Amino acid sequence: MSQANSDHSVTAHDTAVMPAIAAIDDSPALADLCDMQFDNSFVRELPGDPEIHNIPRAVRNACYTRVDPTPVRAPRLLAWADPVGELLGVSRPDSPVGPAVEVLGGNRVLPGMQPYAARYGGHQFGHWAGQLGDGRAITLGEIRGPDGKRRELQLKGAGKTPYSRTADGRAVLRSSVREFLCSEAMHYLRVPTTRALSLAATGETVVRDMFYDGNPRPETGAIVCRVAPSFVRFGNFEILAAHNELDTLRRLADYVIREHFPELGAPSPSTYARWFEEICRRTGTLIAHWMRVGFVHGVMNTDNMSILGLTIDYGPYGWLEGFDFQWTPNTTDAQGRRYCFGNQPEIAHWNLTRLATALAPLIEDHAALEYGLAVFGETFQTAWRGMLADKLGLVSLAHEEDDALVSDLFNLLQQVETDMTLFFRGLMAVPVDVQGDSPADTMDDAALAAPLRRAFYTEPASAQMARLAGWLRRYIARARLDAEATSLPEFADVRLERMRCANPKYVLRNYLAQQAIEALEQDNASVITRLMEVLKHPYDEQPGHDELAHRRPEWARNKPGCSALSCSS
Ligand code: AMP
Ligand code: MG
Repeated sequence: MSQANSDHSVTAHDTAVMPAIAAIDDSPALADLCDMQFDNSFVRELPGDPEIHNIPRAVRNACYTRVDPTPVRAPRLLAWADPVGELLGVSRPDSPVGPAVEVLGGNRVLPGMQPYAARYGGHQFGHWAGQLGDGRAITLGEIRGPDGKRRELQLKGAGKTPYSRTADGRAVLRSSVREFLCSEAMHYLRVPTTRALSLAATGETVVRDMFYDGNPRPETGAIVCRVAPSFVRFGNFEILAAHNELDTLRRLADYVIREHFPELGAPSPSTYARWFEEICRRTGTLIAHWMRVGFVHGVMNTDNMSILGLTIDYGPYGWLEGFDFQWTPNTTDAQGRRYCFGNQPEIAHWNLTRLATALAPLIEDHAALEYGLAVFGETFQTAWRGMLADKLGLVSLAHEEDDALVSDLFNLLQQVETDMTLFFRGLMAVPVDVQGDSPADTMDDAALAAPLRRAFYTEPASAQMARLAGWLRRYIARARLDAEATSLPEFADVRLERMRCANPKYVLRNYLAQQAIEALEQDNASVITRLMEVLKHPYDEQPGHDELAHRRPEWARNKPGCSALSCSS
């Protein structure tokens, strides 16, 4: 891969007089993982479990337990994210096996690393579940990247820890590919997320009952190296509050504020309150982004909620294909639909309320907690409405008729099975023609809706087509009001650019991830490599890759892994 940095500030004039090598010099120097310096601020600054024996047990008065990964038979690198390597200053291993891959497979702990599993609890599906913790994730250490920022390297699937309960500490290839691909795809969609550096096969099999139907079978095992400033979750605080370990609770809060929210100042009761408010704000923005791109997390338990407001723990997630607020990709949640698309804002609020309860011993001013929760609602609403306006190419949703325009659209999208991504992208081609007469005035219903045809999974009946065309005429009239209200000659272009940046063309549809998984299982990395490249530019047309933006083919509708997924991973 070229190491030239795309946003270096060398002008055309400069490049004419400078040797070409100058651009390459701009990129950070990368070093082998084995030569990196590691820090361990989490371990150094927080109380650890005094016991070291690695058997499942209840841990008390600690934020983590020191535990090394369990070696695997034959670690082999399957995929590597160069941009994450560059963030860390780590070079891509030049062979699929070798010392760096031994580290990424958990077979080698480097000098300076102090691996640990974090202790956390959580509310799962609405109920307090007690101690959960990193049952298969092990943080190796922290690296300070060329940008000066510190990030954790965490192996998911690295073997048992004291938090593994009855499970095996491992992960299968299919869920690892999905986490690897999706965390990177989300980053390029501009959705806050943890990242992924590498995907390694373990050379071992893992037994999973994929459908929970009494048919366990061996599957290929894998390990993802995840990267984030911190993997601390709401649940890290909940477990400490639940056990009344208030000194440790305060120490964890102070650590997180010092390391990750330094702009809030030294920890104090008022800082804690502002910190909670900021967590609420970030969570509000996060959920608005999920809704914007049609992402459904699938398991929004409080142990899967990042304290930094990142998307974390990719499991049975999915992207809306047919637009439906009730849709969940998680078969385990098919009955209650607690974590369906439309519930995500409400669940985030519920989860923040659990966090507020956990932080209450630190924040005596309970009105401040209420205020934080209100900030969540306000942030989400403002962000979501702004993003919806962008998606529709409207300056704002401030007109009196806008709420009805949006809710009528959502109803329409649910009446005929309509692909969310394709619909909004297709809206860019609807002839709004903000200057002069609109050709839409003389077009019949079918012609008007033509740019949206690709989005329909079933052919709309004529009455439905008429309703859609009716909506489109209202929409065009509304968009033209914005044009009339501005005198900018480039208004039409600005409008389309805003729509383009809010409406991705390429998302990681479950069936695409499944194709990458099946190819990798046959030792073919070409599908995952192509997906990784295309998903780096989700808002660009990339005409050569059109077929990755098509609606889900019918064969994938009910195929396992292509639509719904279980938690088994
Ligand atoms: P999740 O549903 O993936 O968020 O996981 C919930 C809890 O189960 C967390 O504490 C995980 O660490 C733990 N867990 C999930 N899968 C495994 C596994 N294969 N081995 C050990 N712990 C696991
Ligand atoms: Mg989890």
